[in-house]
Amino acid sequence: MSQIDISLVIPLYNEEESLPELNEWVERVMNENKFSYEMIFIDDGSNDGSWDVIVELKKINPNIRAIQFRRNYGKSPALFVGFEKAQGDVVITMDADLQDSPDEIPELYRMIKEDKYDLVSGWKHCRHDPIGKTLPSKLFNRTARIASGIKIHDFNCGLKSYRKKVIKSIEVYGEMHRYIPILAKKAGFNRITEKVVEHNPRKYGKSKFGIERMLKGYIDLLSVMFSTKFGRRPMYLFSTLGTLMILGSFVITIILITQKLMLQADGEVARSVTDQPLFFMALTSGIIGSQLFLAGFLGEMLNRNSSIRNNYLIDEEI
Ligand code: UDP
Ligand code: MG
Repeated sequence: MSQIDISLVIPLYNEEESLPELNEWVERVMNENKFSYEMIFIDDGSNDGSWDVIVELKKINPNIRAIQFRRNYGKSPALFVGFEKAQGDVVITMDADLQDSPDEIPELYRMIKEDKYDLVSGWKHCRHDPIGKTLPSKLFNRTARIASGIKIHDFNCGLKSYRKKVIKSIEVYGEMHRYIPILAKKAGFNRITEKVVEHNPRKYGKSKFGIERMLKGYIDLLSVMFSTKFGRRPMYLFSTLGTLMILGSFVITIILITQKLMLQADGEVARSVTDQPLFFMALTSGIIGSQLFLAGFLGEMLNRNSSIRNNYLIDEEI
């Protein structure tokens, strides 16, 4: 099979009106630039006519490949499957709703091929979305930027390009599509940059993500950061904390006992140990500490049985 320049991976859920226009636009850009390409549609369980539209489009554009999910799994699972199928040198993801412009493709391709970036993330600098969406998104991006150390402004932009190796090395799941750059960095791909891209208002249909995106986004950020740092060695975090707390509890207990003994030796009436706040601090600290220790230990045991415990990414071998 001849080498393909670009794999376009396009997840879609109920976007029947946009697809013909998208196909035409992509075809035009690809032909103008003489790219060989495949356009992989992942129909994420649409219940409108999206799949029929794709079947029709495939008759006029043989570069189309498409997969249909039986039900709606979400954008991340759709991307995951698209990444598995992709064969192009450069893989470009894009939303199906015409908000991302295919005119960005040539430059996104060039930045991977010539500037040798691993990942180029779109940045919807001038964004055409309601304020209820743009404001929380600003906050998220700032948090993600600080937490991950990746200097990009728009983690969740649907328009991104990747060196093939990147998408074959990461596993997008749940709602992790928001944090693909973090997953890539974690896998060892450090050449990550961004490019300002054009963003259009939604022409047809409506957004598929509601207000719950904020909560999920937050939890996923915690999860991705946490598993990056401690996923392989949970004991480092939990058991260190646990040990510190148990030690604290121990020290306080010693203090309490010596105090009491010294007072009694001097013949004074000593306050009952259970009358003092310190006693309760020692108690809670001891209990919580041992639970933390145990949590770390259990995590470690789970890890030991994990099938991916020795899953390392090897770049070259001679
Ligand atoms: N999408 C999907 N599965 C879903 C939700 C969305 O494949 O469960 C697709 C959707 O069809 C679109 C892209 O993901 O192509 C981005 O979705 P949307 O435009 O609704 O997100 P927004 O632009 O509002 O962030
Ligand atoms: Mg959209």
